[in-house]
Amino acid sequence: MKVQFLGSGDAFGSGGRLQSCILVENGERQFLVDCGASAMISLNKYGIDPNKISLIMVSNLHGDHFGGIPYFIIDAQLNQKRKQNITLIGPTGLKKRFDQVMEAAFPGFLKSKLSFELIKVELNPADQFVVSGMSISTFEAVSGESDIHLIYRIESQGKIFAYSGDTDWTDKLVTAAQGADLLVAESYFYAKKVKHHLDYRTLMANYSRLGAKKVIITHMGQEMLEYLHALHCEYAEDGKVFEF
Ligand SMILES: [Zn+2]
Repeated sequence: MKVQFLGSGDAFGSGGRLQSCILVENGERQFLVDCGASAMISLNKYGIDPNKISLIMVSNLHGDHFGGIPYFIIDAQLNQKRKQNITLIGPTGLKKRFDQVMEAAFPGFLKSKLSFELIKVELNPADQFVVSGMSISTFEAVSGESDIHLIYRIESQGKIFAYSGDTDWTDKLVTAAQGADLLVAESYFYAKKVKHHLDYRTLMANYSRLGAKKVIITHMGQEMLEYLHALHCEYAEDGKVFEF
């Protein structure tokens, strides 16, 4: 697998970074993990052909993880003349939120007949789903919110990629990351404890328990970015590539 960070920032563009979006290449197949509102800027900036992306999976339905989907779909229809199917995977609530966001952003577009098939798959925590030869397991990333947030563990041909967007510290992250070739985890803050987000110190305190061969932190906010020089863990940059 090859992973390229197309957006490693928080919701607010801290440090000039684009919002969460990761391109994963698994053999012939390319897919996106998270699709923040700036995803189309990322794809154009890094010369990625959207027609080669067959799958988009989002960890949650907040704008900085999901907000790029309307632009991707409308670009596919109007500019890319897309013919091939695309599958959207996300937490339960995806279908309703998709309709709401599309209607808010481009009123009336939902009534158009698409030139391609759009398949939407909703997953709950502790689900398993197989798509394109990849086995996807999900874990609950935050509790006590009306929106579901998922941690993904993606296994294919002996390789394991784990990913967590907005996340409370939870032992579910340990389960999802165990034995992974790569764990990409958010670290919005360095030391500040905020509900539904991880911080660097908590991640480091649990680093050996994670059991991943490599950990890269992403989704970094302003406070976190001020400590980049002092980190003992690899961190994402927009454009950075990691192969395993
Ligand atoms: Zn976020």
